[in-house]
Amino acid sequence: MSNRTFTMIKPDATSKGYTGAILDQIIKAGFSIKAMKWTKLTTEQAGLFYDIHRERGFFGELVEFMSSGPIVAAILEKENAVEDFRTLIGATNPANAAEGTIRKNFASSIGENAVHGSDSDENAIIEGDFFFSKLERF
Ligand code: ATP
Ligand code: MG
Repeated sequence: MSNRTFTMIKPDATSKGYTGAILDQIIKAGFSIKAMKWTKLTTEQAGLFYDIHRERGFFGELVEFMSSGPIVAAILEKENAVEDFRTLIGATNPANAAEGTIRKNFASSIGENAVHGSDSDENAIIEGDFFFSKLERF
């Protein structure tokens, strides 16, 4: 079991000024930050990141949204990080997200859902490597 996961604070949340509150909730839940950057994806980069969804009907919308404004990308560490972070962020659709979860607190729709969380240890490594070099992790 790995103890690291990868997250992004998505453009809806950064534009609404929720970055600080979301980071605060993540840190208070026991995650420590191992890498972090404020950046903006091109449509091509967003498409590569979400390549697994390329054939889905919402892919174009997803890529447009994820490249529409700045994001915060971060590698987080905690015991059982991937699973515990998915619990902390809540269901993909905020209408189904549990009370107190980040998506319940900050997301507005299934598309604009405030945060990303890796779905496996393997993808956490791939996604962290997408954004960060070895010199950017501490
Ligand atoms: P993420 O990978 O961003 O953490 P997730 O794992 O909960 O989210 P996925 O099934 O991997 O959900 O979908 C990736 C992202 O695609 C979602 O977070 C959401 O932004 C978008 N998405 C998923 N389903 C839809 C949909 N039906 N309509 C619009 N956007 C969607
Ligand atoms: Mg996913």
